[in-house]
Amino acid sequence: MSAFRLPPLPTVREIIKLFNLRAQKQLSQNFLLDLRLIDKIVRQAGKLKDAHVCEVGPGPGGITRTILNADVAQLLLVEKDTRFIPGLKMLSEAAPGKVHIVHGDVLTYKMERAFPKHLQKKWEDDPPNVHIIGNLPFSVSTPLIIRWLENVSNRDGPFVYGRTQMTLTFQKEVAERLSATTGSKQRSRLSIMSQYLCTVQNRFTIPGQAFVPKPEVDVSVVHFTPLVQPKIQQPFKLVEKVVKSVFQFRRKYCCRGVEILFPEAERLEKSEQMLMLADVDPTLRPAQLSILHFKNLCDAYRKMCDEDTNLFSYNYREELKEKKRTRKKGHWEQSEQED
Ligand code: SAM
Repeated sequence: MSAFRLPPLPTVREIIKLFNLRAQKQLSQNFLLDLRLIDKIVRQAGKLKDAHVCEVGPGPGGITRTILNADVAQLLLVEKDTRFIPGLKMLSEAAPGKVHIVHGDVLTYKMERAFPKHLQKKWEDDPPNVHIIGNLPFSVSTPLIIRWLENVSNRDGPFVYGRTQMTLTFQKEVAERLSATTGSKQRSRLSIMSQYLCTVQNRFTIPGQAFVPKPEVDVSVVHFTPLVQPKIQQPFKLVEKVVKSVFQFRRKYCCRGVEILFPEAERLEKSEQMLMLADVDPTLRPAQLSILHFKNLCDAYRKMCDEDTNLFSYNYREELKEKKRTRKKGHWEQSEQED
């Protein structure tokens, strides 16, 4: 039993009415009002007693109330939409000294200064008592998790405190990609990028009709705990480049994606060399590659980048564009000569 209880307050439905907080469809605002589901989401974060929590996108504050009732030490709310601030202030007054409201964009908010320094734990230790929880619009949650994964890799942002855990909602299909295992249909770039850095658990799915207004899709709750030892020990940008290239042609053999890491002139020779170095069968499809395969590919690519310092800056798309430009120019010059 937690010791803290919010005093009687208007319900979230009443707050929505009171402050005229109609969800803005174009901003993908879908509110969760079902207390049982809200409790279930918050429970996924684990024990929150005395925890320092950041809730991203609290909106009318349904999840916020349950977090406060879990007897947290500190709750930081990052909300972009001004209309929600008065309702959140009401919650803040009901839990004196616990809530700090930031009216801003979570994509630019600097979380490394949000919590007291004494909470910092060594990376190898158990996770700190710092949690991130949020039900954000899908258009924000996917770029945000990519950014936070890069922060995990660099141990900065929310991860200056150690292996901060995150409990976040995603569109069901995105959650399936995040947690997809080797060989599954949903295996994608997101699966590798998240699983090489974190333990990713797709905990449960909430049907769209539980939200007001109902979104077109279902929603899943995903829990992330950064790994003590990343499964690939290369810079995030290098891993991102290799993984993105390999999944560029997801129905073809993986060698097709590996090829585009190299300039056309040396493409075949170098891609064969990389696959040999990595000991990866070129006829596997991208979805069949395990994280260990990707580790070996990234290590091999790193070795080749160290030997050829221009290699990492090579960009396949740029080369294609340049070729198109040259072809067009050649065509015009030829027509001018014919005129
Ligand atoms: N958490 C509430 C709930 O579950 O009922 C609201 C969910 S609603 C899908 C998403 C919330 O995130 C909205 O309040 C919206 O204003 C807020 N939001 C959207 N983009 C944001 C951003 N970049 N930074 C902070 N908050 C954002």
